[in-house]
Amino acid sequence: MDKTIALVAHDNRKKDLAEWVSFNAGSLLETKMVCTGTTGKMIEKILKEKNEKKTTVKIKKLKSGPLGGDQQLGAMIAEGKIDIIIFFWDPMEPQPHDVDVKALLRIAVLYNIPIANNRSTADFIISSDLFSGEYKPILKDYSQYLNRNV
Ligand code: PGA
Repeated sequence: MDKTIALVAHDNRKKDLAEWVSFNAGSLLETKMVCTGTTGKMIEKILKEKNEKKTTVKIKKLKSGPLGGDQQLGAMIAEGKIDIIIFFWDPMEPQPHDVDVKALLRIAVLYNIPIANNRSTADFIISSDLFSGEYKPILKDYSQYLNRNV
């Protein structure tokens, strides 16, 4: 299993993500993970406790979301380095980095990356055969756009 999963949660959604990660620790420990800073520290702690086989916990920690982490993640999507995103954003509170959040959601849709914004969708993704199987998102052909002024 060589998928790279990005995991991010806003502060009011971190508890939800912590429970989901704890429940799905076995599957997640077989992946490579990329997280925004604070989410990454939280997940690393949970997975180290749950890691009975003592395998290496592979988590790349980016900057904290409001300090540029969401934009770093967006860049990784554009570079084809992310397979799945679990992003529990807060629907009840405005965020200091709302524009970065919007940009991240946009780039995920543009590159046709599966993205879960709540626990139900995250459950559907992690229980899908495609989670551990082969899957390459189909990308729209942008060649006409790229050559528009040539
Ligand atoms: P954090 O960032 O993991 O550093 O809390 C999350 C976010 O707001 O994108």
